Amino acid sequence: MFRHTKAVLEKLRHVCLQLSWRQRSTAVKEKTLHYKAGQQIHGFTVKEVVAVPDLFLTAVKLTHDKTGAQYLHAARDDPNNLFSIQFRTTPMDNTGVPHILEHTVLCGSKKYPCRDPFFKMLNRSLSTFMNAFTASDYTMYPFSTQNGKDFQNLLSVYLDAVFFPCLREQDFWQEGWRLENENPTDASSPLVFKGVVFNEMKGAFSDNERVYAQHLQNKLYPDHTYSVVSGGEPLAIPDLTWEQLKQFHATHYHPSNARFFTYGDLPLEQHLKQIEEEALSKFERIDPNTQVPSQPHWTRPREDHVTCSPEAMAPDPSRQNTLCVSYMLGDITNTFEAFTLSMLSSLMTSGPNAPFYKALIEPKIGTDFSSVVGYDGSTKEASFSIGLQGMAEEDTEKVKHIIHHTISDIIEKGFEDERIEALLHKLEIQMKHQSTNFGLSLASYIASSWNHDGDPVELLQINNSVTKFRQALKENPRFLQDKVQHYFKENTHRLTLSMSPDDSYLEKQAKAEEKKLQEKINALSDGDKKEIYEKGLQLLDAQSKTQDASCLPALKVSDIAPTIPVTPVHMSNAGGVPVQFCEQPTNGLVYFRAMCSLNTLPEDLKLYVPLFCSVVTKMGCGSLDYRQQAQQMELRTGGMSVSPQVISDCTNLDMFEQGVLLFSSCLDRNLPHMFKLWQDIFNSPHFDNEERLRVLVMMSAQELANGISHSGHMYAMTRAARYLTPAGELHETFDGMEQVRFMKRIAEMSDLTQVIRMLPRIKKHILNPDNMRCAINATPQQVPESAAHVESFMKDVATNRKHFKAVRPNIIKRPVDVLSDSGPSRKLIDDPNFQPCYMKTFFQLPFPVNFVSESVRTVPYNHEHYASLCVLARMMTAKFLHGEIREKGGAYGGGARMGGGGVFSFYSYRDPNSVQTLSAFRKGVEWAMSGQFTQQDIDEAKLSVFSSVDSPVAPSSKGMSIFLSGLSDEMKQRHRERLFAVTHKNLLDVAERYLGTGHKTCGVSILGPENDAIKKDPSWVVK
Ligand SMILES: [Zn+2]
Repeated sequence: MFRHTKAVLEKLRHVCLQLSWRQRSTAVKEKTLHYKAGQQIHGFTVKEVVAVPDLFLTAVKLTHDKTGAQYLHAARDDPNNLFSIQFRTTPMDNTGVPHILEHTVLCGSKKYPCRDPFFKMLNRSLSTFMNAFTASDYTMYPFSTQNGKDFQNLLSVYLDAVFFPCLREQDFWQEGWRLENENPTDASSPLVFKGVVFNEMKGAFSDNERVYAQHLQNKLYPDHTYSVVSGGEPLAIPDLTWEQLKQFHATHYHPSNARFFTYGDLPLEQHLKQIEEEALSKFERIDPNTQVPSQPHWTRPREDHVTCSPEAMAPDPSRQNTLCVSYMLGDITNTFEAFTLSMLSSLMTSGPNAPFYKALIEPKIGTDFSSVVGYDGSTKEASFSIGLQGMAEEDTEKVKHIIHHTISDIIEKGFEDERIEALLHKLEIQMKHQSTNFGLSLASYIASSWNHDGDPVELLQINNSVTKFRQALKENPRFLQDKVQHYFKENTHRLTLSMSPDDSYLEKQAKAEEKKLQEKINALSDGDKKEIYEKGLQLLDAQSKTQDASCLPALKVSDIAPTIPVTPVHMSNAGGVPVQFCEQPTNGLVYFRAMCSLNTLPEDLKLYVPLFCSVVTKMGCGSLDYRQQAQQMELRTGGMSVSPQVISDCTNLDMFEQGVLLFSSCLDRNLPHMFKLWQDIFNSPHFDNEERLRVLVMMSAQELANGISHSGHMYAMTRAARYLTPAGELHETFDGMEQVRFMKRIAEMSDLTQVIRMLPRIKKHILNPDNMRCAINATPQQVPESAAHVESFMKDVATNRKHFKAVRPNIIKRPVDVLSDSGPSRKLIDDPNFQPCYMKTFFQLPFPVNFVSESVRTVPYNHEHYASLCVLARMMTAKFLHGEIREKGGAYGGGARMGGGGVFSFYSYRDPNSVQTLSAFRKGVEWAMSGQFTQQDIDEAKLSVFSSVDSPVAPSSKGMSIFLSGLSDEMKQRHRERLFAVTHKNLLDVAERYLGTGHKTCGVSILGPENDAIKKDPSWVVK
C-alpha cells in the first residue's frame, strides 16, 4: 500500500512538470490527422478532418452509411472523455412528451431490463458527469469519464437506453404522470396526480424567471414547435398517453435523426465499432421528417402580457413587473452572422460601459435586466431580448421608449474600438482557459446549430470568425451599426412582453389543477378506480422490491487507483507574505489568489462582508471611474473577484478559518496591469458613489431572491446546520437565508449612507500582510515573473499595514506549510465552549413545492469515522432515500451527503411533501441501522464516493485544497485508504453512533408553501 513520507513529498514538490500540455497534446491530435476524407471505418465514412489549433483539437466529421446518422469526434489530449447523443425532438403540444421520454428511456432497456439502470450506473461507474437534457428542439444524453473501461460500459448502457428502451407502462406512470390514491395503501384516500415530471415541472414553473422565458419563446415563435413547452405544461401533462409516448420514441429516437459527439484522448475507432455493433447495424434509414421550418416573419410588431406569482423575497414588493422587447434574428446555422450578432449583443448589454446598461440599469427603473437578455441562439432563428425586471407598472411606457431610443443612439454613435478589443480579449482568454468539463462545453456549444444542420466544425473554428469579424470592421467602420439598423431598428418581428404579479396566481393554479383532477376522476368508473388502486399497489411493490442490477456492467473497487496523483507545490515568501506556487499547463494564463483573514473584523460588520465582496471590484478605483475600471478589467484580465470564505478545520469541528479570497487571472503580458488594478482597488476604492452602490445592491438582492427556487435545498441545508458548529453559524450569515433577508432590507433602504460607511471599515481589515497568504498557478516559465510581481504588490500592501486585535480571544495557529512547523501560519478561530442546539426552522415562501433538510453534527475530515460517513451517505441515497423521496414521494431529488465541515445532511429537492419527508429521513437511518445492505451495495457506494473524490481538477485550481484548507496530499491519501477499508460493521457503527442518537446534535429546516401542520406545531420556528 502506498504511503507518503515527508521526504517523498518534499522531493516531489520541487519536480517541475516534465512535459508541457501542448507537447503532450500533439500525440492524439496528430494520430487523428491521419484520417482521410472518404475513408471507411466500421460502417461510417469520414467526411472531413480539420485541425483546430486554437482549441488544441482535431475534429473528424463522419456519416453512418446505412442510417445517415451524423458523427463528430474532437480528438484532444484530455483524459476526461465525453460521449453525447442528441435527437431532434420537436413536440407540437404541451404534454411534455420529449421530457417524459427523456426520463422513461432511462428506466430500463432490452439488454439492461432492470429498473432505473441510469441511476444504478451512477454507483457502478467512475463517471465525471452523467445526465440527460430536454431542450426546446433536441434531447441530449451526455456522459464523461476518465476511465476507458468505464467509457465502454456507459456507452453500452446509453446506446441501449435510447435505442432499445422498455418503455413499460409502469415507467410512464412513475416518471410521467398518474392518478393514484394519496396514500397508495388506502383505497379510500383521495385520488391525486403524481409523477416525477409532473412535479418537476410544477417546481420549474415556481420560478418566475423561467415562467417569463417560457412565455417569451412561445410567443415570439408562435407557428411551430417553439410555441409549446417541451418540458411539459403541468396541467397538459395528464393529457399524454402511454401510446403517444411510444409513438414519439419510434419516430424521433432513430439513428437517422441522431447526432453523435465524442471528445477526448480515447481512440475513435473503438467508439465507432461499439456504436455500429451495439446499435446502428440494427437499423435501416428512415426519413425522420423532424425539420423545424423557418418562422414566418411578422409584418408588424406584437405586444402581450402574462402574470406570475408574487415574490416574497423581492427587494421592493411594489416593483415586481418585468418588461422586455424581443427581436427575432437570423438563422443560427449561418455561423459568422451568429458570431457577429452574439458579439454585438455583448457590446450592447454587458457591463457598465454597454449602452443598454447605461440607459436601463443605471436610472434604477428596475432591479436588473429581465431574466432573458441578450443574444439567444438556442432556437432555429436566434433572438435578442432587452428589458427590465423589478420595475413598477407605471414605468412601462418609459422603458419601451428608452429601448427604442437607445437603439437609435447606437446606430448613430457605434462602439468604441477599445470595447471591441476588450471583448475579443475576453474571447481569447475563454479559449485558453482550461476547464475540467471542456468536452461537455463543446457538446452544448455546437448542439443547437448542428441540430438544424449547421456545420459544427465551422463553429469550432472560432478564430476564423474573429479574423472575418476584424476584416469586416476594417472594410466598413459602420459594420455593426448597419447590423443594428437591420436587425433592430427595421425589424418588424419583435415582441414586447410584460409580466406582472397576481396575488391569486397560486390559488388560481391550484384551482385549475383541482378542476383538471375532477374532470379525470369524473370520467372514471368504479372499476377504473379499483384498477388505479391496484396499479398503485403494484407500483409501490415494484418500488419497494430489492432490485437485481447484476445485468449492468460495473467497475470494481479494484479498478480504482490506490493512490492519488501528487500535486507538487512550492512555498515561497514575498514581502513577508507566504506564497504558494503550483506549476501547471495553463496555456499562458496566470492565476492569482490571496486569502485574507477576517479575524480582526468587528462582529457587527460580518453581515456586510458578502455585499462588500460583490461590490469592491465594481465601484471604480484610483484614477478610474467604475466604467473605466470595468473596461480595464476586461481588456487586461480574465476577471477579478472577491468572495467570502468559511473554512472548517480538518481536525476540530469547533474551529474554522474566516476570510475573503481574492481571485484573478491574466495573460502573462498583463501581469503588471492586473496587480496595479488590485493595488488601486484596495488603496483608493471609490466607495462613496451612492448611485453606483444602489445599482449593485439592487442587482445582488434580485439575484439572491431569484436563486431560492433552484437552490432551495442548499438554503435548507445551510439553515439546518446553523446551530451545529461555529462554522455553520457563519455560513448562514454569509450564504444562508439570513443573508437573503439582510440584502432585501438593504435594497429597501432609501438612504445607503450608513452602508457606505461600513465598506471602508471592512476594507481596512483585509489587505493586511500579517493575515494573508497568496497562491500562483502558472506554467514553469511564468513563475519567476509572477513571483516578482507578487513581491512588489506585497511591498505596496505592506505600506498600509495597520495593527488590529483579533475580535475573538481564542486563535489557533496552523502552519501554512504543512511540512514545517515553523514559519507563517493560518489563524483559526477556536470556540471550545460551543454548544450545538436543536432547532427546527420553517421559511414560508410562495412556492408550490418544498425543500426539506435535516443536518447532523458528526466528525471532521481527519477523524477515522469520516470515510465511513461518506460511504454511508452515498449508500443511503442510492439504496433507500432515492426510492423513498423521488420514486415514492414524487420529489425531483433527495438524498444524504457528508459535508466537509463535518455535518451529515439529508435533503429533498422540489418536494411535494414536507414533514413526511423528515420521516423518510428517519426511516433511512433505521434502514442503515438494520444492516440490510450487501457488500455489493457498499462497493457501489465506494465507487460513487471515488468518482467525486477523483473528479478532474483544472490547472487553475490545482493545489487549492492545501492552500485554502491545509488539506495535504498526505491527508487525502489517508482518507483514501480509509475509504477503501470501510466495512459493513463500520457503516453500522457510524449509523448508530451519529445518526441514531438524540436531538441535541441535529437541526431541521424546511422552505415551502404555507403549512398548517407546521403552524400548529409549537416546536417549529416559523420565519
Ligand atoms: Zn426532468
